[in-house]
Amino acid sequence: MDNIEALKTIIEEHNNIIVFTGAGCSTESGLADFRSTDGLYYQQWDYPPETILSHSFYEEKPAEFFRFYREKLLVSGIEPNAAHKAFARLEQEGKVKAVITQNIDGLHQAAGSRQVLELHGSIHRNYCESCGKFYGFDFMQAANGVPSCSCGGRIKPDVVLYEEGLDDRILAESIEAIQTAEVLIIGGTSLNVYPAAGLINYFRGDKLVLINRSAVARDLAADLVIKEPIGEVLAQV
Ligand code: ZN
Repeated sequence: MDNIEALKTIIEEHNNIIVFTGAGCSTESGLADFRSTDGLYYQQWDYPPETILSHSFYEEKPAEFFRFYREKLLVSGIEPNAAHKAFARLEQEGKVKAVITQNIDGLHQAAGSRQVLELHGSIHRNYCESCGKFYGFDFMQAANGVPSCSCGGRIKPDVVLYEEGLDDRILAESIEAIQTAEVLIIGGTSLNVYPAAGLINYFRGDKLVLINRSAVARDLAADLVIKEPIGEVLAQV
């Protein structure tokens, strides 16, 4: 039996599936992984992405932070791909109970998924640091320099920056979902971002499925490993 058939069988035979996705799930929608830097990158930016997207950098150099945020994260015209759509359909069919994602692009919701646990927040939510007023994607993209609220306060993306902790409620819900899942499908991540990657250790279910185009950072006792792009795989399920 080939890998796709094996995946189909696992999905058919279980009704409590949890999906865990990372950046690789969005690259097939045309969104570059901001961690993948090429030669061009350092002609445009003086710091590595992990530095720019840190809490201290946000406080010290907000104008440079927002230049990066707009250019690299607030990307227009990105649509869900076959993986996002398949997980949304499987939720409607009662198979997938929740998607836990490291991505901040909102593509799972755009595809129709309703139970989405965003470990690292979302570019679609931005809040005034003074009064708490909400601002969406379009406002942030159109703003110049450091975006400010009508009250004069600075607007911060609801995105977990480096040096910041994960949201306790999202983390607790993610752990519970993984602990009670029969099947865990991990897709588009090499599991090298902690603490999110440590969540996998809570899984005690039947089948662990790994779908990633390249090798994964740590050894996992997976029941099924598919080394192909997740969109191409899910398009066949
Ligand atoms: Zn305000």
